[in-house]
Amino acid sequence: MSKILVAGIGKSGEWAARLVLKNGDSCFLYDDRDLMESGALPEDLAGHSRVKIIKNVDASLFRNVKEVVISPGFPPSHPVRITAEETGCRLISEIEYAAIWCRGKIFAITGSNGKTTVTGLTAHILKSSGLNAVPCGNFGTAFSKAVLETGGKGNFVVELSSFQLEHVQNFRPDFAALLNLTPDHLDRYHKVDDYYRAKMAMFRNMNEGTPALLNGDDPVSASYSEFYPSNVKWIGRNSNSLVQIVEDALVYQGEKLVSLEETRLRGLHNLYNAAFSAGMCILADVSVEKVRAGIISFHPIPHRLELVGEKEGVEFYNDSKATNFDSVVKALASFPSIHWIAGGRFKGGDFNELAKAGKGRVKGAYFIGESASLFLENLEARFSCRISRTLEQAVTDAWREAKPGDVILLAPGCSSYDQFKNYEVRGDRFREIVNGVRNEGNRG
Ligand code: ADP
Repeated sequence: MSKILVAGIGKSGEWAARLVLKNGDSCFLYDDRDLMESGALPEDLAGHSRVKIIKNVDASLFRNVKEVVISPGFPPSHPVRITAEETGCRLISEIEYAAIWCRGKIFAITGSNGKTTVTGLTAHILKSSGLNAVPCGNFGTAFSKAVLETGGKGNFVVELSSFQLEHVQNFRPDFAALLNLTPDHLDRYHKVDDYYRAKMAMFRNMNEGTPALLNGDDPVSASYSEFYPSNVKWIGRNSNSLVQIVEDALVYQGEKLVSLEETRLRGLHNLYNAAFSAGMCILADVSVEKVRAGIISFHPIPHRLELVGEKEGVEFYNDSKATNFDSVVKALASFPSIHWIAGGRFKGGDFNELAKAGKGRVKGAYFIGESASLFLENLEARFSCRISRTLEQAVTDAWREAKPGDVILLAPGCSSYDQFKNYEVRGDRFREIVNGVRNEGNRG
């Protein structure tokens, strides 16, 4: 029986601990909060004879355990990571620990934007073609939970953040996709290069038998070619691509697979997302017909350019997850005539990029939250802008101006924490307000 320390007891830590226990090992648990407090741990862990709660981490503890399963929430400066490294103790991510017990196929997906969409779509195609598939990882269900509940059998479509890819050593997916690379998480990484390199860990152990899909049209991904594994397949405009993008359609082996307008997805970026999902499923021997049917029957994941209503020829899109400027650029590029709602807690970004993407498309812009004045100052010379302050007022203002054929788009480019609990609550509120407009429709 080995002793394993699980450090960081959020959802993925709890499930990693259960996996440790299932496999007959003893589990030490550590968190920065006090795990002894009543209710801090679920009953099954708190009362288990092979669980020991650790209050302080010191070098002797690390000499006593086989390995440390580390939470993605612990940054490199965390004492657990520093002490483990100093004592030479093996430090692995929850993803790697779960993968050790996984007997099925792993589809690993990372990138700066689009991970959740590609994870959901890939799992949907696999499931609708009759295979077992569980979307997991950063998607919501911890990979350890998925492995535990399935006995490790089936197809695991694992969304991976860069944090989860820190401390993978032996992890080898059966199929991998790196969607794109744009700057993000600069609060965690000193340099953007550190963030990009963290993602490259996904490829570390891949070989000829385990193909990796890359975006041939993304210049940043291209500049990291030294990290690519031996078996690379391309997604993109080039005719040598496994799945090629031709105008607004996907092409496989010279035949049209599906066009964007046949799907519920909007925007060129979503065509790339669909190409990655199609490519992975084709490599996993799903037939082209089933891939096509799966893409057509897929509903966008809530808060990602999701159609939430239509009235008098005006469509309302909820892209509350567009919290960085790159995703806003993609959203603005997706429609010809837009009333755009943006703002919230500012995370940084280049307003010129938004001005370029919205040129000729943004008919009106309505700013909310803490950064409303900042957006106004930076964009009023480019678009017709106003400060609406609240989401309710912004929808009312946009609806008053919108004409048939326009879209009203929530793509905030900011986090939600100034006015909402999180981006989901913001998107749900948008949907409620839109429902109110559809039921009453008074243009004020
Ligand atoms: P992630 O899981 O990487 O955050 P999501 O699928 O949740 O990706 O989408 C996050 C945001 O990025 C949404 O606003 C979505 O509309 C947008 N988005 C989706 N795919 C892409 C892409 N390929 N490139 C840029 N933005 C994207």
